[in-house]
Amino acid sequence: ATPTALMVGVGRGGQLGILIKGPDALEASGVIDTVVLDKTGTLTTGEMAVEVVHGHGGHSAESVLERAAAVEHHSEHPIARAVVARASEEGLVVPDAAGVRALPGLGAEGEVAGAIVLVGNPALFRERGVPVPESVERGLEESAAAGRTAVLVGVAGELVGSIEVTDSLKESAAPAVARLKEMGLRTVLLTGDRRAAGETIGAQVGVDEVIAEVLPTDKSAVIERLQSEGRRVAMVGDGINDAAALASANLGLAVVSGTDVAMKSADIILVRRDLNVIPDAIALARRTLRTIK
Ligand code: ADP
Ligand code: MG
Repeated sequence: ATPTALMVGVGRGGQLGILIKGPDALEASGVIDTVVLDKTGTLTTGEMAVEVVHGHGGHSAESVLERAAAVEHHSEHPIARAVVARASEEGLVVPDAAGVRALPGLGAEGEVAGAIVLVGNPALFRERGVPVPESVERGLEESAAAGRTAVLVGVAGELVGSIEVTDSLKESAAPAVARLKEMGLRTVLLTGDRRAAGETIGAQVGVDEVIAEVLPTDKSAVIERLQSEGRRVAMVGDGINDAAALASANLGLAVVSGTDVAMKSADIILVRRDLNVIPDAIALARRTLRTIK
C-alpha cells in the first residue's frame, strides 16, 4: 500500500463527510466483512417520545411520570430526555431527587421524598428484587413487539407504573443496510433493548442478524466473539454506551451525534446524518486499496 494513495483516499473521504483518522483506518475498512450497528441513536434518531404512561396498582399516571422525571432529570439517556420532556409538557412540578445513579443498560435510580425510585427495564427490577406482575410483563412484550420500549417505574420496592417510549428509524437506515448487503457484508443489529424490540427494528431495516439484551459492558465481548469466529468487524455506534465496542472492533465508526468519548474510540467519524455514509466509507476504502494493488 503506497502511503500517497492512502492519503488521497483520506482526503477524498473528508469531502464526502467521512473523517478518517489515518491511513490504517482506511486500510482496515477495505477488508472488513461484517458491520455491527447499534440500534438507539445509530439506526434510530434517538429522539424518543413518550407514547403513554400507565399507572399500576392504583397509582395515577401523573404520579408515575412525576417520580420518573425526578430521577431521569439527572440522566442523559434518550429515554430520560423523553420522560423529562413529557413531564414538562404536562406542566408537572417535578420533585427533587437525591443520589441519582445511572445504571448503564438497565436504567437509573434515586431517592425522591425519602423513597427509592427505580426507572428502567425488567432486568433492573429483577436485580433489585422488585416483583413485576405477569400482566405487566405481557404488556411489555407487546410494546416491544411493536418496536416500542417500555420502562418500568418502582417506588420503595413496589412497581407503580410503566412508560412507553417510541423512537423512529432514520429514513436512510433500510437503504443503507441494503447497500451493505449488496456489497457482500454481513449486517448485525446490536442492542441493549429487549429481544422483541430488536427483532422488530431489525426486520424493518433488513439486517441479517439481531443480538439483543446486551449490557453496555458486554458489547465489546460480542465484537470479540465475532472476531474469534474469523470475522473482520466494523462497529457503528453513537458512543452512548458503545465506546468500548467501537475500540474493540477492527474498525470503529462513530455517527456524528456521538459523544466525545465515541469520537476518541472511533477510527472514522461520519459527519453526515445519512447512514448511506457507511457504505460510502467502505466503498471508498475498497476503491483506494484496489488502486494501490
Ligand atoms: P441501545 O443498546 O439500544 O443503545 P442502551 O444500552 O442505551 O440501548 O439501553 C438499553 C436499555 O436499558 C433500554 O432499552 C432501557 O430499557 C434501559 N435503560 C438504560 N438507561 C435508561 C434510563 N435512563 N431510563 C430508563 N431505561 C434505561
Ligand atoms: Mg446506543
